[in-house]
Amino acid sequence: MSVEKLFAVKGMNDILPEQMPYWHWLESCAKEVLRSYGYREIRTPIVEPSALFSRGLGQVTDIVEKEMYAFTDKLNGDELSLRPESTAGVVRAAIEHSLTYQEPQRLWYRGPMFRHERPQRGRYRQFHQIGVESLGFSGPDIDAELILLSARLWQKLGLKNVSLELNSIGDAPERAAHRHALIEYLKEQESLLDQDAKRRLYTNPLRILDSKNPAMQEMLGAAPRLIDFLEHASRAHFDGVQALLHANNISFTVNPRLVRGMDYYNRTVFEWISTDLGTQATICGGGRYDPLTPLYGGNETPACGFALGMERVIELLKQITSAPLDNPDIYLMHSGGACGLSAMQLAEQLRTHQMSVVLHCMASVGIGSFKSQMKRADNSGAQLALILGEDEIAQNTVTIKWLRAREKAQEKINRVELIQYLQTHYLQLLSQ
Ligand code: ATP
Ligand code: MG
Repeated sequence: MSVEKLFAVKGMNDILPEQMPYWHWLESCAKEVLRSYGYREIRTPIVEPSALFSRGLGQVTDIVEKEMYAFTDKLNGDELSLRPESTAGVVRAAIEHSLTYQEPQRLWYRGPMFRHERPQRGRYRQFHQIGVESLGFSGPDIDAELILLSARLWQKLGLKNVSLELNSIGDAPERAAHRHALIEYLKEQESLLDQDAKRRLYTNPLRILDSKNPAMQEMLGAAPRLIDFLEHASRAHFDGVQALLHANNISFTVNPRLVRGMDYYNRTVFEWISTDLGTQATICGGGRYDPLTPLYGGNETPACGFALGMERVIELLKQITSAPLDNPDIYLMHSGGACGLSAMQLAEQLRTHQMSVVLHCMASVGIGSFKSQMKRADNSGAQLALILGEDEIAQNTVTIKWLRAREKAQEKINRVELIQYLQTHYLQLLSQ
């Protein structure tokens, strides 16, 4: 009887072991950079009440309208969703645990997000973000800090060809005035609007500005600009952010049509864009979201954050360099039986001395010849193989076979001298 194979859900990817060094590399660079700015990690659940997203992100956003993995809990009828982003969850957690009661918080997170989009290069249904949320800060300094932090991360990773776009979408009254003017303008241009734009004309006209439809670009280029509707406080905030970026040598372009996908943003919005990724070119997006906390019943808490798309950044990393490998130091071969037991004990001893050791283990074909074991050792990427056969056990020795360095030399060492020997020669090799 043939059994049907099962496959991963479309748009949700397995990340195989050979890919992991890129992920670890990005994560460790990000961790270091975040630590250097005093950000602390927070982990929130992947499943949240659906209301968290419909209330926070806005009803007429792409995410809430058509991209949410929302479901009813069969056991108790709760309306739940897989998180499409993590700002909502972090803010919920901050309110729930009164995190900003004493002082502002600099937080970061990483993890999978879920959006029911059309899968394509750089766009998946399960994807991963590293994100940063600064809660309780109102000045332009924190907006600039987030941008400096992300710029430092690109530099540390060696990314080239990334550029920063910046805009201010003002506060609610300014957006209302602009919205009015925008709707009037778009109504006059109705014959040029595509289906999506017509649908959004009265619900979310700001998002029309964000359209990628080439046929509408010229018309949208001439549309009323939100930036021209900013009043004094928003203007001063935006000028402040720009001055701080200039003072720190961060170049950027002001893109008056840059808006963001969620309703909770106000004032500063920004995106980092790469020219090396094709259509899904935005690697990171963020901005200020002062109105969000009150929407969740929390106290007024000005806040600012960003999220970067890990898959997109990793695609760039793959273009610039081959990954540092996660290979073991040592592959330990043996001839089974009493030698196997001794090998396992030796492996433990080496691990106690900080070496990574892959112990040859029994497969369905048995322990295998030394020849086949040597092939495994070579494939493992280890620097050296250690051999424990009958002879070695009888003589209390270990055979060392260098797999990559030292002209692949083979030598026999007394077992009591082994650790000392490896510490000298192997570490010397690593430090070259
Ligand atoms: P896009 O305009 O590409 O749809 P977005 O504005 O919806 O992006 P955000 O919600 O701001 O994206 O998420 C921040 C970052 O997460 C994006 O800049 C992108 O790098 C990444 N990202 C968003 N959606 C996806 C996805 N479906 N697959 C892979 N990465 C994604
Ligand atoms: Mg999107």
